[in-house]
Amino acid sequence: MSHSPADLLITGCTVLVHDDQERIGFEQDAAIVVRDGRVESVTSAADAVGLAAVERIDARGQVALPGLINCHTHAPMVALRGLAEDLPTEEWFNDVVWPVESNLTEKDVELGARLACAEMIRAGVTCFADHYFSMDTVAAVVTECGMRAHLGEAYFSSQGPQGREKSLEFALRHRGSAGGRITTALAPHAPYTVTDTDLAATAQLALEHGLPVHLHAAENRDQTDTSLSRHGITPIEVLDRAGLLATDLLIAHGTGISDRDLPVLERASGHIAVATAPRGYLKFAWPDTTPIRALRAIGIPVGLATDGAASNNSLDVWESMALTSLVQKSTEGDPRWLTSRQALHHATLQSARAVGLGDSIGCIAPGRRADIVLVDLTGPHTQPVHDLAATLVHSARSADVRTTIVDGRVLMRDRELLTLDVPAVVRELGERLPALVDRSHGRRIQEYDT
Ligand SMILES: [Zn+2]
Repeated sequence: MSHSPADLLITGCTVLVHDDQERIGFEQDAAIVVRDGRVESVTSAADAVGLAAVERIDARGQVALPGLINCHTHAPMVALRGLAEDLPTEEWFNDVVWPVESNLTEKDVELGARLACAEMIRAGVTCFADHYFSMDTVAAVVTECGMRAHLGEAYFSSQGPQGREKSLEFALRHRGSAGGRITTALAPHAPYTVTDTDLAATAQLALEHGLPVHLHAAENRDQTDTSLSRHGITPIEVLDRAGLLATDLLIAHGTGISDRDLPVLERASGHIAVATAPRGYLKFAWPDTTPIRALRAIGIPVGLATDGAASNNSLDVWESMALTSLVQKSTEGDPRWLTSRQALHHATLQSARAVGLGDSIGCIAPGRRADIVLVDLTGPHTQPVHDLAATLVHSARSADVRTTIVDGRVLMRDRELLTLDVPAVVRELGERLPALVDRSHGRRIQEYDT
Protein backbone atom coordinates (compact mmCIF):
# COMPACT_ATOMS: atom_id res chain seq x y z
CA MET A 1 0.00 0.00 0.00
CA SER A 2 1.23 3.49 -0.86
CA HIS A 3 2.58 5.72 1.92
CA SER A 4 1.02 8.95 0.68
CA PRO A 5 -2.50 9.61 2.05
CA ALA A 6 -5.44 8.15 0.11
CA ASP A 7 -7.72 10.71 -1.57
CA LEU A 8 -10.85 9.31 0.03
CA LEU A 9 -11.48 6.70 2.71
CA ILE A 10 -14.99 5.34 3.29
CA THR A 11 -15.22 3.34 6.51
CA GLY A 12 -17.65 1.15 8.42
CA CYS A 13 -20.01 0.34 5.53
CA THR A 14 -21.25 -2.87 4.00
CA VAL A 15 -19.96 -3.12 0.41
CA LEU A 16 -21.76 -4.83 -2.47
CA VAL A 17 -19.15 -6.96 -4.23
CA HIS A 18 -19.11 -9.48 -7.10
CA ASP A 19 -17.23 -12.79 -6.87
CA ASP A 20 -15.40 -14.35 -9.82
CA GLN A 21 -18.69 -15.88 -11.01
CA GLU A 22 -20.25 -12.40 -10.80
CA ARG A 23 -22.45 -13.48 -7.90
CA ILE A 24 -23.51 -10.59 -5.68
CA GLY A 25 -22.16 -10.64 -2.13
CA PHE A 26 -21.80 -8.20 0.73
CA GLU A 27 -18.63 -7.42 2.72
CA GLN A 28 -19.61 -6.33 6.23
CA ASP A 29 -17.79 -3.68 8.25
CA ALA A 30 -15.58 -2.81 5.31
CA ALA A 31 -13.58 0.17 4.11
CA ILE A 32 -13.00 1.49 0.60
CA VAL A 33 -9.74 3.22 -0.23
CA VAL A 34 -9.89 5.61 -3.21
CA ARG A 35 -6.87 7.08 -4.97
CA ASP A 36 -6.60 8.94 -8.29
CA GLY A 37 -10.30 8.43 -9.02
CA ARG A 38 -10.07 4.66 -8.68
CA VAL A 39 -10.85 2.10 -6.00
CA GLU A 40 -7.45 1.12 -4.64
CA SER A 41 -8.73 -1.52 -2.24
CA VAL A 42 -11.73 -2.86 -0.40
CA THR A 43 -10.53 -3.86 3.02
CA SER A 44 -11.85 -4.43 6.55
CA ALA A 45 -12.66 -1.43 8.70
CA ALA A 46 -10.08 -2.76 11.20
CA ASP A 47 -7.33 -2.74 8.56
CA ALA A 48 -8.23 0.81 7.57
CA VAL A 49 -7.75 2.19 11.09
CA GLY A 50 -4.89 4.66 11.07
CA LEU A 51 -4.80 4.88 7.29
CA ALA A 52 -4.13 8.46 6.21
CA ALA A 53 -6.66 10.07 3.88
CA VAL A 54 -7.33 13.56 2.57
CA GLU A 55 -11.10 13.04 2.91
CA ARG A 56 -12.96 10.55 5.07
CA ILE A 57 -16.57 9.39 5.19
CA ASP A 58 -17.87 7.52 8.20
CA ALA A 59 -20.47 5.26 6.54
CA ARG A 60 -21.64 3.12 9.44
CA GLY A 61 -25.22 1.91 8.86
CA GLN A 62 -24.83 2.43 5.12
CA VAL A 63 -24.31 0.16 2.14
CA ALA A 64 -21.85 1.08 -0.60
CA LEU A 65 -23.06 0.15 -4.08
CA PRO A 66 -21.59 0.76 -7.51
CA GLY A 67 -23.26 3.97 -8.75
CA LEU A 68 -26.43 3.31 -10.73
CA ILE A 69 -26.28 3.69 -14.52
CA ASN A 70 -29.15 5.08 -16.58
CA CYS A 71 -28.59 3.17 -19.83
CA HIS A 72 -31.04 5.14 -21.97
CA THR A 73 -32.45 8.59 -21.39
CA HIS A 74 -33.02 11.98 -22.96
CA ALA A 75 -31.93 14.06 -19.98
CA PRO A 76 -33.11 17.52 -21.13
CA MET A 77 -36.66 16.15 -21.57
CA VAL A 78 -37.18 16.67 -17.83
CA ALA A 79 -38.40 20.10 -19.04
CA LEU A 80 -41.40 18.22 -20.54
CA ARG A 81 -42.14 16.17 -17.42
CA GLY A 82 -45.90 15.72 -17.10
CA LEU A 83 -46.70 17.59 -20.33
CA ALA A 84 -48.05 14.63 -22.34
CA GLU A 85 -50.01 12.39 -20.03
CA ASP A 86 -52.26 9.38 -20.56
CA LEU A 87 -51.77 9.28 -24.32
CA PRO A 88 -51.00 6.51 -26.82
CA THR A 89 -47.45 6.58 -28.24
CA GLU A 90 -48.47 8.14 -31.56
CA GLU A 91 -50.35 11.09 -30.02
CA TRP A 92 -47.63 11.51 -27.40
CA PHE A 93 -45.08 12.05 -30.20
CA ASN A 94 -47.13 13.81 -32.86
CA ASP A 95 -49.43 16.02 -30.78
CA VAL A 96 -47.15 17.04 -27.93
CA VAL A 97 -43.49 16.01 -27.80
CA TRP A 98 -42.36 16.65 -31.38
CA PRO A 99 -44.24 19.98 -31.70
CA VAL A 100 -42.74 21.17 -28.39
CA GLU A 101 -39.25 19.98 -29.34
CA SER A 102 -39.41 22.24 -32.41
CA ASN A 103 -39.19 25.15 -29.90
CA LEU A 104 -36.13 23.82 -28.06
CA THR A 105 -33.22 26.22 -27.62
CA GLU A 106 -29.69 25.55 -26.37
CA LYS A 107 -30.63 27.24 -23.12
CA ASP A 108 -33.62 24.92 -22.59
CA VAL A 109 -31.34 21.93 -23.19
CA GLU A 110 -28.77 23.30 -20.77
CA LEU A 111 -31.28 23.92 -17.98
CA GLY A 112 -32.98 20.58 -18.62
CA ALA A 113 -29.65 18.78 -18.48
CA ARG A 114 -28.74 20.51 -15.21
CA LEU A 115 -32.06 19.58 -13.62
CA ALA A 116 -31.72 16.01 -14.89
CA CYS A 117 -28.18 15.63 -13.54
CA ALA A 118 -29.30 16.99 -10.17
CA GLU A 119 -32.18 14.50 -10.10
CA MET A 120 -29.91 11.62 -11.05
CA ILE A 121 -27.12 12.45 -8.58
CA ARG A 122 -29.75 12.69 -5.83
CA ALA A 123 -31.04 9.25 -6.87
CA GLY A 124 -27.61 7.59 -6.82
CA VAL A 125 -27.09 7.61 -10.59
CA THR A 126 -23.46 8.21 -11.48
CA CYS A 127 -23.55 7.58 -15.24
CA PHE A 128 -26.16 8.04 -17.97
CA ALA A 129 -26.45 7.22 -21.67
CA ASP A 130 -28.02 10.26 -23.27
CA HIS A 131 -29.59 10.42 -26.72
CA TYR A 132 -30.71 13.92 -27.65
CA PHE A 133 -30.10 17.15 -29.54
CA SER A 134 -27.66 20.03 -28.78
CA MET A 135 -25.39 17.50 -27.13
CA ASP A 136 -22.45 19.92 -26.95
CA THR A 137 -24.51 21.64 -24.29
CA VAL A 138 -25.20 18.38 -22.45
CA ALA A 139 -21.49 17.53 -22.58
CA ALA A 140 -20.67 20.92 -21.03
CA VAL A 141 -23.14 20.28 -18.17
CA VAL A 142 -21.68 16.80 -17.59
CA THR A 143 -18.16 18.23 -17.53
CA GLU A 144 -19.17 20.80 -14.96
CA CYS A 145 -21.39 18.70 -12.65
CA GLY A 146 -18.97 15.77 -12.38
CA MET A 147 -21.15 12.91 -13.64
CA ARG A 148 -20.05 10.24 -16.09
CA ALA A 149 -21.98 10.02 -19.36
CA HIS A 150 -22.20 8.16 -22.65
CA LEU A 151 -23.47 10.76 -25.11
CA GLY A 152 -24.87 10.62 -28.63
CA GLU A 153 -26.20 13.40 -30.89
CA ALA A 154 -29.54 12.04 -32.11
CA TYR A 155 -30.61 12.37 -35.73
CA PHE A 156 -33.46 11.64 -38.14
CA SER A 157 -33.02 11.07 -41.89
CA SER A 158 -35.42 14.02 -42.37
CA GLN A 159 -32.44 16.22 -41.38
CA GLY A 160 -30.57 15.09 -44.49
CA PRO A 161 -26.95 13.86 -44.45
CA GLN A 162 -26.08 16.72 -42.06
CA GLY A 163 -27.80 14.87 -39.20
CA ARG A 164 -25.52 11.88 -39.58
CA GLU A 165 -22.43 14.04 -40.03
CA LYS A 166 -23.23 16.08 -36.94
CA SER A 167 -23.65 12.89 -34.90
CA LEU A 168 -20.21 11.69 -36.05
CA GLU A 169 -18.54 15.04 -35.44
CA PHE A 170 -19.98 15.19 -31.94
CA ALA A 171 -18.87 11.64 -31.14
CA LEU A 172 -15.31 12.24 -32.33
CA ARG A 173 -14.96 15.66 -30.71
CA HIS A 174 -16.14 14.62 -27.25
CA ARG A 175 -14.85 11.06 -27.01
CA GLY A 176 -12.79 10.76 -23.82
CA SER A 177 -13.45 14.34 -22.71
CA ALA A 178 -14.08 15.54 -19.13
CA GLY A 179 -11.01 13.59 -18.02
CA GLY A 180 -12.37 10.41 -19.60
CA ARG A 181 -15.80 10.69 -17.97
CA ILE A 182 -17.48 11.27 -21.33
CA THR A 183 -17.69 8.46 -23.86
CA THR A 184 -19.66 8.83 -27.08
CA ALA A 185 -21.82 6.95 -29.57
CA LEU A 186 -23.42 7.50 -32.95
CA ALA A 187 -27.12 8.04 -32.33
CA PRO A 188 -29.58 7.44 -35.17
CA HIS A 189 -33.08 7.86 -33.70
CA ALA A 190 -34.71 4.57 -34.79
CA PRO A 191 -35.27 2.35 -37.85
CA TYR A 192 -38.67 4.02 -38.36
CA THR A 193 -37.18 7.54 -38.59
CA VAL A 194 -33.81 6.73 -40.19
CA THR A 195 -33.56 5.19 -43.67
CA ASP A 196 -31.78 1.94 -44.44
CA THR A 197 -29.14 3.94 -46.33
CA ASP A 198 -28.43 6.11 -43.30
CA LEU A 199 -28.42 3.10 -40.98
CA ALA A 200 -25.90 1.34 -43.24
CA ALA A 201 -23.74 4.47 -43.43
CA THR A 202 -23.86 4.72 -39.62
CA ALA A 203 -22.69 1.11 -39.29
CA GLN A 204 -19.77 1.87 -41.64
CA LEU A 205 -18.80 4.99 -39.71
CA ALA A 206 -19.03 3.13 -36.39
CA LEU A 207 -16.62 0.44 -37.58
CA GLU A 208 -14.31 2.90 -39.28
CA HIS A 209 -14.00 5.12 -36.19
CA GLY A 210 -14.36 2.49 -33.46
CA LEU A 211 -17.54 4.09 -32.14
CA PRO A 212 -20.56 2.35 -30.60
CA VAL A 213 -24.12 3.02 -31.77
CA HIS A 214 -27.09 3.86 -29.52
CA LEU A 215 -30.61 3.82 -30.97
CA HIS A 216 -34.26 2.92 -30.37
CA ALA A 217 -35.40 -0.31 -32.05
CA ALA A 218 -38.29 -2.77 -31.79
CA GLU A 219 -39.60 -0.45 -29.11
CA ASN A 220 -42.99 -2.17 -29.11
CA ARG A 221 -44.97 -4.89 -30.84
CA ASP A 222 -46.69 -2.38 -33.18
CA GLN A 223 -43.34 -1.34 -34.61
CA THR A 224 -42.37 -4.96 -35.24
CA ASP A 225 -45.74 -5.70 -36.89
CA THR A 226 -45.53 -2.58 -39.07
CA SER A 227 -41.96 -3.39 -40.10
CA LEU A 228 -43.02 -6.92 -41.04
CA SER A 229 -45.94 -5.72 -43.14
CA ARG A 230 -43.97 -2.93 -44.88
CA HIS A 231 -40.56 -4.58 -45.33
CA GLY A 232 -41.19 -8.27 -44.63
CA ILE A 233 -38.56 -8.18 -41.89
CA THR A 234 -38.47 -7.16 -38.21
CA PRO A 235 -36.71 -4.01 -36.92
CA ILE A 236 -33.87 -6.22 -35.59
CA GLU A 237 -33.50 -7.77 -39.07
CA VAL A 238 -33.42 -4.22 -40.50
CA LEU A 239 -30.49 -3.47 -38.18
CA ASP A 240 -28.80 -6.71 -39.23
CA ARG A 241 -29.23 -5.93 -42.95
CA ALA A 242 -27.75 -2.45 -42.36
CA GLY A 243 -24.67 -3.98 -40.72
CA LEU A 244 -25.44 -2.51 -37.31
CA LEU A 245 -25.26 -5.88 -35.53
CA ALA A 246 -21.55 -5.91 -36.38
CA THR A 247 -21.09 -2.79 -34.24
CA ASP A 248 -21.19 -2.32 -30.47
CA LEU A 249 -24.88 -1.57 -30.33
CA LEU A 250 -27.09 -0.33 -27.49
CA ILE A 251 -30.75 -0.93 -28.31
CA ALA A 252 -33.31 1.01 -26.29
CA HIS A 253 -36.40 -0.95 -25.17
CA GLY A 254 -36.67 -3.96 -27.50
CA THR A 255 -40.09 -4.93 -26.14
CA GLY A 256 -40.95 -5.81 -29.75
CA ILE A 257 -38.04 -8.26 -30.07
CA SER A 258 -39.63 -11.47 -31.34
CA ASP A 259 -38.58 -15.12 -31.22
CA ARG A 260 -37.24 -14.95 -34.79
CA ASP A 261 -34.91 -12.10 -33.73
CA LEU A 262 -33.14 -14.15 -31.08
CA PRO A 263 -30.91 -16.24 -33.39
CA VAL A 264 -30.13 -13.07 -35.37
CA LEU A 265 -29.00 -11.33 -32.18
CA GLU A 266 -27.11 -14.41 -31.01
CA ARG A 267 -25.12 -14.55 -34.27
CA ALA A 268 -24.20 -10.85 -34.10
CA SER A 269 -20.48 -10.20 -34.31
CA GLY A 270 -20.74 -6.89 -32.38
CA HIS A 271 -21.41 -6.47 -28.68
CA ILE A 272 -25.17 -6.04 -28.47
CA ALA A 273 -26.92 -4.76 -25.35
CA VAL A 274 -30.48 -3.73 -24.57
CA ALA A 275 -31.70 -1.02 -22.17
CA THR A 276 -35.02 -1.60 -20.39
CA ALA A 277 -37.22 1.20 -18.99
CA PRO A 278 -40.35 -0.61 -17.80
CA ARG A 279 -42.29 2.31 -16.33
CA GLY A 280 -42.91 3.80 -19.78
CA TYR A 281 -44.10 0.46 -21.19
CA LEU A 282 -46.67 0.19 -18.44
CA LYS A 283 -47.74 3.80 -18.93
CA PHE A 284 -48.14 3.47 -22.71
CA ALA A 285 -49.99 0.18 -22.11
CA TRP A 286 -47.64 -1.68 -24.42
CA PRO A 287 -48.52 -5.37 -24.45
CA ASP A 288 -44.96 -6.60 -23.83
CA THR A 289 -41.86 -5.78 -21.89
CA THR A 290 -38.19 -6.32 -22.74
CA PRO A 291 -37.74 -10.13 -23.07
CA ILE A 292 -34.94 -10.24 -20.52
CA ARG A 293 -35.06 -13.97 -19.91
CA ALA A 294 -34.67 -14.78 -23.61
CA LEU A 295 -31.93 -12.15 -24.04
CA ARG A 296 -30.00 -13.48 -21.04
CA ALA A 297 -30.23 -17.00 -22.48
CA ILE A 298 -28.25 -15.80 -25.51
CA GLY A 299 -25.78 -13.79 -23.42
CA ILE A 300 -27.05 -10.28 -24.11
CA PRO A 301 -26.65 -7.83 -21.22
CA VAL A 302 -29.74 -5.84 -20.28
CA GLY A 303 -29.10 -2.53 -18.57
CA LEU A 304 -31.57 -0.47 -16.56
CA ALA A 305 -32.92 2.82 -17.85
CA THR A 306 -35.64 5.40 -17.43
CA ASP A 307 -36.02 6.82 -20.95
CA GLY A 308 -36.88 10.55 -20.86
CA ALA A 309 -38.98 12.09 -18.09
CA ALA A 310 -41.62 13.16 -20.65
CA SER A 311 -42.76 9.52 -20.72
CA ASN A 312 -41.27 8.04 -17.54
CA ASN A 313 -41.87 11.12 -15.35
CA SER A 314 -38.66 10.52 -13.43
CA LEU A 315 -35.03 9.55 -13.97
CA ASP A 316 -35.16 7.18 -11.02
CA VAL A 317 -33.10 4.13 -11.96
CA TRP A 318 -33.71 2.66 -8.51
CA GLU A 319 -37.37 2.46 -9.39
CA SER A 320 -36.49 0.89 -12.77
CA MET A 321 -34.61 -1.80 -10.86
CA ALA A 322 -37.61 -2.61 -8.64
CA LEU A 323 -40.05 -2.43 -11.57
CA THR A 324 -37.85 -4.63 -13.74
CA SER A 325 -37.93 -7.32 -11.07
CA LEU A 326 -41.72 -7.03 -10.62
CA VAL A 327 -42.64 -6.79 -14.31
CA GLN A 328 -40.40 -9.77 -15.14
CA LYS A 329 -42.02 -11.91 -12.45
CA SER A 330 -45.47 -10.93 -13.67
CA THR A 331 -44.70 -11.38 -17.38
CA GLU A 332 -42.94 -14.72 -16.94
CA GLY A 333 -45.52 -15.93 -14.41
CA ASP A 334 -42.59 -17.02 -12.28
CA PRO A 335 -41.72 -15.59 -8.84
CA ARG A 336 -38.21 -17.05 -9.20
CA TRP A 337 -37.45 -14.80 -12.22
CA LEU A 338 -36.09 -12.13 -11.66
CA THR A 339 -34.57 -12.27 -8.17
CA SER A 340 -33.22 -9.31 -6.22
CA ARG A 341 -29.67 -10.50 -6.81
CA GLN A 342 -30.36 -10.72 -10.53
CA ALA A 343 -31.83 -7.21 -10.44
CA LEU A 344 -28.65 -5.98 -8.74
CA HIS A 345 -26.57 -7.72 -11.42
CA HIS A 346 -28.55 -5.85 -14.10
CA ALA A 347 -28.09 -2.60 -12.16
CA THR A 348 -24.33 -3.05 -11.86
CA LEU A 349 -22.25 -5.12 -14.31
CA GLN A 350 -24.88 -5.53 -17.04
CA SER A 351 -25.63 -1.81 -17.09
CA ALA A 352 -21.90 -1.04 -17.20
CA ARG A 353 -21.51 -3.39 -20.19
CA ALA A 354 -24.53 -1.85 -21.91
CA VAL A 355 -22.80 1.54 -21.96
CA GLY A 356 -19.46 0.04 -23.03
CA LEU A 357 -17.82 0.50 -19.62
CA GLY A 358 -17.91 -3.11 -18.41
CA ASP A 359 -14.20 -3.06 -17.56
CA SER A 360 -14.09 0.24 -15.69
CA ILE A 361 -17.32 0.68 -13.70
CA GLY A 362 -20.20 -1.50 -12.45
CA CYS A 363 -18.46 -3.02 -9.46
CA ILE A 364 -16.49 -1.89 -6.44
CA ALA A 365 -13.13 -3.59 -6.86
CA PRO A 366 -9.48 -2.58 -7.06
CA GLY A 367 -8.71 -0.75 -10.30
CA ARG A 368 -12.32 0.21 -11.08
CA ARG A 369 -13.29 3.88 -11.31
CA ALA A 370 -14.60 5.04 -7.93
CA ASP A 371 -18.27 5.55 -8.86
CA ILE A 372 -19.91 4.72 -5.54
CA VAL A 373 -23.16 5.51 -3.76
CA LEU A 374 -23.82 5.18 -0.04
CA VAL A 375 -27.31 4.09 0.95
CA ASP A 376 -28.75 4.62 4.42
CA LEU A 377 -30.62 1.56 5.66
CA THR A 378 -31.46 2.86 9.13
CA GLY A 379 -34.97 4.02 8.15
CA PRO A 380 -38.04 2.13 9.44
CA HIS A 381 -38.97 1.01 5.91
CA THR A 382 -35.64 -0.82 5.52
CA GLN A 383 -35.50 -2.53 8.93
CA PRO A 384 -34.95 -5.26 9.91
CA VAL A 385 -32.69 -6.70 7.23
CA HIS A 386 -33.11 -10.45 6.67
CA ASP A 387 -31.96 -10.41 3.05
CA LEU A 388 -29.90 -7.39 2.08
CA ALA A 389 -30.42 -7.85 -1.67
CA ALA A 390 -34.20 -7.85 -1.17
CA THR A 391 -33.98 -4.84 1.15
CA LEU A 392 -32.08 -2.92 -1.51
CA VAL A 393 -34.34 -3.82 -4.42
CA HIS A 394 -37.77 -3.92 -2.81
CA SER A 395 -37.61 -1.80 0.35
CA ALA A 396 -35.00 0.91 -0.15
CA ARG A 397 -35.72 3.92 -2.35
CA SER A 398 -33.57 6.32 -4.28
CA ALA A 399 -34.14 8.91 -1.52
CA ASP A 400 -32.17 6.63 0.83
CA VAL A 401 -29.00 7.43 -1.13
CA ARG A 402 -27.04 9.80 1.09
CA THR A 403 -23.79 10.20 -0.79
CA THR A 404 -22.91 10.00 -4.50
CA ILE A 405 -19.32 9.75 -5.70
CA VAL A 406 -18.04 9.78 -9.29
CA ASP A 407 -14.38 9.18 -10.17
CA GLY A 408 -13.58 9.59 -6.48
CA ARG A 409 -15.20 13.04 -6.29
CA VAL A 410 -18.12 13.56 -3.91
CA LEU A 411 -21.03 15.10 -5.89
CA MET A 412 -23.61 14.75 -3.09
CA ARG A 413 -22.80 14.51 0.57
CA ASP A 414 -25.52 13.76 3.14
CA ARG A 415 -28.16 14.60 0.47
CA GLU A 416 -26.59 17.97 -0.29
CA LEU A 417 -25.71 18.54 -3.96
CA LEU A 418 -22.24 20.02 -4.26
CA THR A 419 -22.06 20.83 -7.98
CA LEU A 420 -25.55 21.98 -8.99
CA ASP A 421 -27.93 24.73 -7.82
CA VAL A 422 -31.45 23.34 -8.21
CA PRO A 423 -33.49 26.42 -7.12
CA ALA A 424 -31.62 28.60 -9.63
CA VAL A 425 -32.19 26.09 -12.45
CA VAL A 426 -35.89 25.68 -11.62
CA ARG A 427 -36.40 29.46 -11.52
CA GLU A 428 -34.72 30.05 -14.86
CA LEU A 429 -36.42 27.09 -16.53
CA GLY A 430 -39.79 28.24 -15.21
CA GLU A 431 -39.44 31.57 -17.00
CA ARG A 432 -38.83 29.78 -20.30
CA LEU A 433 -41.66 27.23 -20.09
CA PRO A 434 -44.44 29.25 -21.81
CA ALA A 435 -42.33 29.65 -24.96
CA LEU A 436 -41.13 26.05 -24.77
CA VAL A 437 -44.57 24.43 -24.56
CA ASP A 438 -46.26 26.66 -27.18
CA ARG A 439 -47.75 24.49 -29.94
CA SER A 440 -49.75 27.17 -31.77
CA HIS A 441 -47.18 27.24 -34.62
CA GLY A 442 -48.23 23.75 -35.80
CA ARG A 443 -44.63 22.64 -36.50
CA ARG A 444 -43.11 19.36 -35.38
CA ILE A 445 -39.55 18.09 -35.69
CA GLN A 446 -40.65 14.72 -37.07
CA GLU A 447 -43.72 12.54 -37.76
CA TYR A 448 -44.39 9.30 -35.87
CA ASP A 449 -45.56 6.55 -38.17
CA THR A 450 -44.05 3.47 -36.48
ZN1 LIG B 1 -35.84 6.93 -25.76
